[in-house]
Amino acid sequence: MLTPEKAIAIQEALGADIIMCFDECPPATAEYSYVERSLAMTSRWARRCKEARRREDQHLFGIVQGGMHRDLRARSLDNIRSIGFDGYALGGLSVGEEKEQMYDVMDCCSPMMPDDAPRYIMGIGAPEDLIEAVWHGYDMFDCVMPTRNARNGMLFTSRGRINIKAKAHEEDQGPIDPECGCHVCRSYSRAYLRHLYRAGEILASQLNTYHNLHYYLDLMRQARQAIRDDRYADFRREFYARQASDQ
Ligand SMILES: [Zn+2]
Repeated sequence: MLTPEKAIAIQEALGADIIMCFDECPPATAEYSYVERSLAMTSRWARRCKEARRREDQHLFGIVQGGMHRDLRARSLDNIRSIGFDGYALGGLSVGEEKEQMYDVMDCCSPMMPDDAPRYIMGIGAPEDLIEAVWHGYDMFDCVMPTRNARNGMLFTSRGRINIKAKAHEEDQGPIDPECGCHVCRSYSRAYLRHLYRAGEILASQLNTYHNLHYYLDLMRQARQAIRDDRYADFRREFYARQASDQ
């Protein structure tokens, strides 16, 4: 059985820079009363996690739950803030809700998040989700999407997504994304990557994953630069304009 104390002991033994409180992540369809009880339990566990902590060289983040309900999100955030953590995470997103609901939770929590600690949204997301999350003032993300989708042949480009399995790429000698500077785009054609995928070569997964991770990291690099240059609104607009253009 995993307890808050055990979860912290394991993460201290692993030695990660950032460790997370033990929480419950209810599904998007959970009833209001269930989410209400669940967030109270997550708050009790958060306190126990903080008390169980022994190492001071790691950053312990609290997790805000509350489902898709604005009032419950506010209550959870208030609880977690009053305990006090090195950083604050929104959990319980990307669990089957509509995108509008996800963006609504980002929007309602953002003004209540502390200004002097990192803000992390767990388990998102698609490139447009990261663009929206940064727009709402969030800093950190994690997701399986770039790697899992790469293994299924779905590649992210500056003009939107492509499926490398598609017949359209059979004779295409161009790169995945002409605007991408990654090793894969500089070295291999879409036709070759499609061939590798169809032949069941593990190299297809490796090269596709390399490109998708490069895409995500580069997108975040560009977002950071746009914030520094005080032009994030333009950057966001340009991102959507490029996605809309057909390839
Ligand atoms: Zn690339």
